[in-house]
Amino acid sequence: MSAKEDKLGDANTNTNPTSTYKVSRSKVFYAIAFLGVFVYMLSYLVRDNTSTATPLVNVDQGIGSFPIIEPTQKFGFVLDTFDVFEGTIKENEFLADILLQHKVDFVAIDRLAKETRDIHDVRSLRADKPYTILNRDTTNSADYFIFEPNPYHYVVYDLKVPAKSQKVKRPIDKVIKMASGVVDGSLWNTMQANGLNYELTTKMEDALAWSVDFYHIQKGDKFKAYYEQDFIDGKLVGIGKLFGAYYENADQEYYAVNFETEKHHGFFDLKGRPMKKAFLKAPVKYSRISSRFSNRRFHPVLKRYKSHLGTDYAAPRGTPIMSVADGVVTKRAFTRNNGNYVKIKHDKVYSTQYLHMSKFKKDVKVGTRVKQGDVIGYVGKTGLATGNHVCYRFWKNGKQVDPRRQNLPPPDPMPEKDLPEYFKVRDSIKHILDQIEFKEFPIATDEESDEKVEGEESEAEKTAVKTEGDDQAI
Ligand SMILES: [Zn+2]
Repeated sequence: MSAKEDKLGDANTNTNPTSTYKVSRSKVFYAIAFLGVFVYMLSYLVRDNTSTATPLVNVDQGIGSFPIIEPTQKFGFVLDTFDVFEGTIKENEFLADILLQHKVDFVAIDRLAKETRDIHDVRSLRADKPYTILNRDTTNSADYFIFEPNPYHYVVYDLKVPAKSQKVKRPIDKVIKMASGVVDGSLWNTMQANGLNYELTTKMEDALAWSVDFYHIQKGDKFKAYYEQDFIDGKLVGIGKLFGAYYENADQEYYAVNFETEKHHGFFDLKGRPMKKAFLKAPVKYSRISSRFSNRRFHPVLKRYKSHLGTDYAAPRGTPIMSVADGVVTKRAFTRNNGNYVKIKHDKVYSTQYLHMSKFKKDVKVGTRVKQGDVIGYVGKTGLATGNHVCYRFWKNGKQVDPRRQNLPPPDPMPEKDLPEYFKVRDSIKHILDQIEFKEFPIATDEESDEKVEGEESEAEKTAVKTEGDDQAI
């Protein structure tokens, strides 16, 4: 009996406490799990103002079933494990202003700035751009600062280990598009009226600017473009490549075909000649000629007749001034008449000079090699000048001449052996361009071609283009 009791007692002491313990442990587990979900949901509701993360929790109300938590991923993180703060950089707001509010101290901010300079300089954070702060534990300093300079990239600043910071390229979905139109007013206005993105207009102009004088286009001129749109996460973020462009005026038709190989890149005409010439027509974009080259003109400041050995382009102060051709900077100086000016030697024969700059481009110094289109300074009115403009001077064999009257050297043609490869590309692009029908906006006429481009949904395209953002300074 006593042995039995002992046994029972043993049994009691050995089994009962264990089974009670088992029950209570599982109860505690459930309690913690539900409490956890409750606290989590509460915290989610509380910080709903600062987070735009989509709902993270799907709670099945059925008794006995567990809640299913779907992880929300963004920037390569499972956001659910962080406190998420989202914001937009404000005017005159610096990184320190933001991070100090998230318990990151000056020493850490300074270290971050230094160690991430090569990845993405924190001094280049721009107003109106979005950022996200991730914090594992808000009683401590934040863990990550994520900045989105443009739709194509984001930068993950690791606030604890700055060296682990990285710039991440988002995957882009390319959609092939075609556009066309009949000019009514400027190309710019026509394309706007057609719902076409200004980025496409700029690319069209770059492709054709050498052949077509966009300052003097005529009503009724026609254009076509064959290009790609970039989508990220289903959202249209910009124009990718322009494969080909077409322009037609009363006199002529022009094709520009994009050709990219190891040796060639840019636009070429149907014969394989580069669309770009050795010299740009003007050193500033979107300007007007305010005074032409002449051997005799009335000088507005000196109040007497004097030759004007340059061409003046009026443009707002700060407009970038470009080198019209490849070359080497031979002068970067200030004189009383010229103000701030730069002179560039292009070859044995030609040099160009740019006067009255408000300031020089920072890295442009005597000896600097520049490419055609490189910015060398900014429009101003330093020296002898009444208004903001650049006085563009063209030197041939040490003598100033009117560039508009020169037969300038043609660009280097494509080597003959590369032509067959180019012609293949050209033929396929020309074939597509030729099939695009013209659309006339905003007034529809009966001029529409009977040809239909396969797979093209013009209305859909129009709508898609119209949704494009204007934040495309890439
Ligand atoms: Zn001048």
